[in-house]
Amino acid sequence: MPLHTGEALVLRTYRLGETDRLVVLLTRDRGKKRGVARGGARSRKRFGGALEPFTHVRVAYQEREQRDLVRLDYADVLGSPLTAGGEACTYASYFAELLDEWAPENDPQERLFRLGVAVLDALQTGVGAERLARYFEYWLLRLQGVYPSVHACPQCGEALQGGAVLEPRGHWFLCRQCAPHGQGVAMPGSALQFLVEAAQVAPAALGDVNVSSEALVQVAAAHRLLLVWHLDREPRAARVLREINL
Ligand SMILES: [Zn+2]
Repeated sequence: MPLHTGEALVLRTYRLGETDRLVVLLTRDRGKKRGVARGGARSRKRFGGALEPFTHVRVAYQEREQRDLVRLDYADVLGSPLTAGGEACTYASYFAELLDEWAPENDPQERLFRLGVAVLDALQTGVGAERLARYFEYWLLRLQGVYPSVHACPQCGEALQGGAVLEPRGHWFLCRQCAPHGQGVAMPGSALQFLVEAAQVAPAALGDVNVSSEALVQVAAAHRLLLVWHLDREPRAARVLREINL
């Protein structure tokens, strides 16, 4: 049985029987893997807090012929949302769920992996979870090539700096003149400016980006529309976050 070692992000875990856990991992070099952590539900010695969603781990696992599930030998924590505490863990579950939705099985997605780790690191160093969430959604959709341009109106070519509207299907940001009246999500210039800056900075530097909470609320509304459009539903953890923030 070939043994693989490397870095991974934990996306989900489920209990499997009395003592084991089923773990979904996004490995850095080999894409998404599903594995069994024997004793993972009981023995804290072997896996400790390493199986929490969005934990950055170093893992060793064995692939078995003709089987979809790998066998997890160990998982050592390299970074954990538990150290950030409180609401960071709820956001971490949301990030893990989105990665799980987007990463295909067994197909290396190193950029998705690096996005996840960089956002986790920033979360641990105290960068605001709300702006990190908007950043994460933005980059996730950008990496899939489905984020609409924030620079120019596709209908008339007008620059969008002053403000735009995400039309109801979520395909385009239109200038205010071209947008259908009273529909879609209004994006003030400051919300678009945040996205322009988010395209250029690492998550760790996001704390220095100047953005109001009102602008972030509009970005959140736009991203909800985009995510529901592409996923066909609202992520579970997003609903939880919304209820917490009410
Ligand atoms: Zn226009």
